[in-house]
Amino acid sequence: MTAVLERLDLPPGLPEEEAMLVRTVRQMSEDVIAPRAAHHDRTAEFPWENVKAINQLGLNAMYVPEAYGGAPVSYSAYLACVREISRACAATGSVWMTNFHAMKPLIDFGSEEQKARLLPRIAEGGLASLCITEPHAGSDATGMRTRFTADGDQIRIDGGKTFITNGDVADRYLLFGKWSGIEDLRRAISTVVVEGGTPGLTVVRTEDKMGIRASSTATLAFEDCRVPRANLLGEPGDGLRILLASLNKSRPSIAAHALGIARAAFEDGIAYINERKQSGRRIVEFQGIQFLLADLASELALCERWLWHVGALVDAGEREFGIEASILKLRASDLAMRVTTEVVQLLGGYGYTRDYRAERLMRDAKITQIWEGTNQIHRQLIGRSFIRK
Ligand SMILES: Cc1cc2nc3c(=O)[nH]c(=O)nc-3n(C[C@H](O)[C@H](O)[C@H](O)COP(=O)(O)OP(=O)(O)OC[C@H]3O[C@@H](n4cnc5c(N)ncnc54)[C@H](O)[C@@H]3O)c2cc1C
Repeated sequence: MTAVLERLDLPPGLPEEEAMLVRTVRQMSEDVIAPRAAHHDRTAEFPWENVKAINQLGLNAMYVPEAYGGAPVSYSAYLACVREISRACAATGSVWMTNFHAMKPLIDFGSEEQKARLLPRIAEGGLASLCITEPHAGSDATGMRTRFTADGDQIRIDGGKTFITNGDVADRYLLFGKWSGIEDLRRAISTVVVEGGTPGLTVVRTEDKMGIRASSTATLAFEDCRVPRANLLGEPGDGLRILLASLNKSRPSIAAHALGIARAAFEDGIAYINERKQSGRRIVEFQGIQFLLADLASELALCERWLWHVGALVDAGEREFGIEASILKLRASDLAMRVTTEVVQLLGGYGYTRDYRAERLMRDAKITQIWEGTNQIHRQLIGRSFIRK
């Protein structure tokens, strides 16, 4: 069975040079990132050394076009790297994948001038934030209140965002808000890029979290914060279209993060029950336990295959894959929660202590059901898609 899962470690048909890249990322994650994960969980210190190790391999470049300092590879290879890093440390995985989530809309919707000005810093290892959520606008992002007001060749930003990953450390912020003067509230949503250190942008607080503790989560305030009008993506009112297209590409990456956590937990559980004996037998020899393993392994195998299926759709240029992405995000995150909880159970009392990482993986897994659309919202999106127009 282990061999069955190992065959799913790489997307099928990945070119050899991309497979080599994923293997290198795996090795680096195991050697450098994993050994520090417990420390970062305990202290909640931002994992700067891990960011440095990621940048030594130049990993941000893998999704930035060559013209702006990148060396792009397939989306499937990117997903495989998210999974490997998250398997070693979910907090670091979330820091790294957020750079992609925030910069992909700039890559897909930005002008040549914007990309030439704003992307090289990311290609060389900068951090980025995607700013959608507000205190009163979570699942329904259209309720956002942050305002963009045109003022000559500038845009004035007033408002606030909450729960922003990398929010206190980012070099680039992809920010959604409403354009003053557009009446229809959905059509008012617009997107600007704010550079780190811009006056008027302040960090109000960072959260003390259950899991992914070393990934920073910030509340931001924008008060008379001004960016050049040249930092507007597309036209005023293009924001909702940009938002929906971007989420489709970030949700599979959330699933890769969840599956990295799930695989780490599954492997820990298998190792433990092959050693631990009760009633003169190894725990793995009890049939009741074997049924559980069969269920978890089957779910893992199918979910990992679906990850590569969605990756392949994106690589083939498919644009309509929102429901596939929702199915993936929903199942992968529910599975991560289930596997990690079952593995704590498999470790018995030891699973409840910090001597093993199972309890951390369980805490880390929880966020995957909440962010990038809660799983209730994904169930709604999938179910709603069957309503005939
Ligand atoms: C650690 C962390 C990092 C995050 N990073 C980012 C980030 O980088 N950028 C960003 O913009 N946001 C980020 N978020 C925000 C995250 O995406 C939101 O928390 C999430 O979308 C849910 O919004 P909410 O917390 O306001 O919950 P609510 O929307 O208030 O939901 C509360 C509950 O009600 C349920 N609910 C809501 N609406 C419905 C409905 N229509 N039908 C059924 N149930 C419903 C929800 O599923 C949930 O269970 C992050 C959050 C956390 C915790």
